[in-house]
Amino acid sequence: MNSTLIPYGRHQVGADDIEAVVRVLNSSWLTTGPKVAEFENAVAAYTGAKYAVAVSSGTAALHCAAYALGIEPGDEVIVPALTFAATANCVAALGGTPVVVDVHPETLLIDVAEIQKHVTARTKAIIAVDYAGQPCNYDMLHEVADRYGLHILADACHALGACFNGVRTGQLADLTVFSFHPVKHITTGEGGMVVTNHARYAEMMRRFRNHGITADHHQRSQENTWHYEVADIGFNYRITDIQCALGISQLGKLDGWLARRREIAGYYADAFGTAGAIRPLKVSQGVDHAYHLYVVRLDTEQLSVSRAEVFQALRESGIGANVHYPPLNLQPYYQNRFGAYRGQCPAAEAAYEQLLSLPIYPSLTAQDIERVTATLDSILSDI
Ligand SMILES: *Cc1c(COP(=O)(O)O)cnc(C)c1O
Repeated sequence: MNSTLIPYGRHQVGADDIEAVVRVLNSSWLTTGPKVAEFENAVAAYTGAKYAVAVSSGTAALHCAAYALGIEPGDEVIVPALTFAATANCVAALGGTPVVVDVHPETLLIDVAEIQKHVTARTKAIIAVDYAGQPCNYDMLHEVADRYGLHILADACHALGACFNGVRTGQLADLTVFSFHPVKHITTGEGGMVVTNHARYAEMMRRFRNHGITADHHQRSQENTWHYEVADIGFNYRITDIQCALGISQLGKLDGWLARRREIAGYYADAFGTAGAIRPLKVSQGVDHAYHLYVVRLDTEQLSVSRAEVFQALRESGIGANVHYPPLNLQPYYQNRFGAYRGQCPAAEAAYEQLLSLPIYPSLTAQDIERVTATLDSILSDI
């Protein structure tokens, strides 16, 4: 048995990334300096969005975006069942109610037909999650949103560089959120960004990331004045120049890394086929998948083993599979506070019993992939 652990995801930091960071450490701006705007401009250019606001995490970015949409007590916001907690928590943090909606059984993306059943007079927005790196069907989402007058916030933390019908994430929703946590496509250690084509949203988010203050430190020092105004609630959600220098350097490698992720996904798809006990998720027509995750479903009935047994056996062989995610409606907080319940999202709950995220990251080698598929084969034939 090979004892080196293959994790499900990992970052890649090169000598050039480190040099870029060190240059900032030797400069006079560690935070709120020129690298922040440079990183924002680079991500705006990459995604094709007009404005970008960089913050300290993807979670902070979601909070900023939900604030820009004016979410307040009494508002309902539709979120998919299969996502990370931060997608729903940004709504709860503003006093709104996250309404958990089921996913489509084949793609595990929010089920647009289900959305309509949950729209009420209080619904203000839909948060679309591009699960695993596959963009949602934004044509259908916009149709529903337009019909009911809803905003669309894209949680594209899995989908930097993905496209729907040739249009990149960042241009598919009113606001789009990215994360630069080390497990995501590019990293700043911790970090996040919101992109939008709306100047007013961008302005609100710049204020929100800095205590609700209308002029930033840089502007104040130029104007030589101590006066500032707190126009509304806000926090310190700023990102440092140190992090942004890393982000700029990483962004230059994104396209190559995306190509490698797609190549790895191709190897897995070939290895598993379409009729076996390990079933890759459906990829819709017109989608350029970003493969943040490589998610498969285990046909647990055909196999007569549980996902937990397969997961454990993989771990014992040094393969760090993972599970994304326990459905939100099964989490105590959303049950206790918002009345979510088991049985609310049958497709997500059934999928959850079978999900496995297999290792995928740019430096994963052909031998690593071979080890993952061979180990899975031997586990499934042993049990
Ligand atoms: C990673 C992630 C977040 C949160 O991002 P952080 O940078 O870790 O705060 C939010 N939503 C989804 C879907 C994510 O994958």
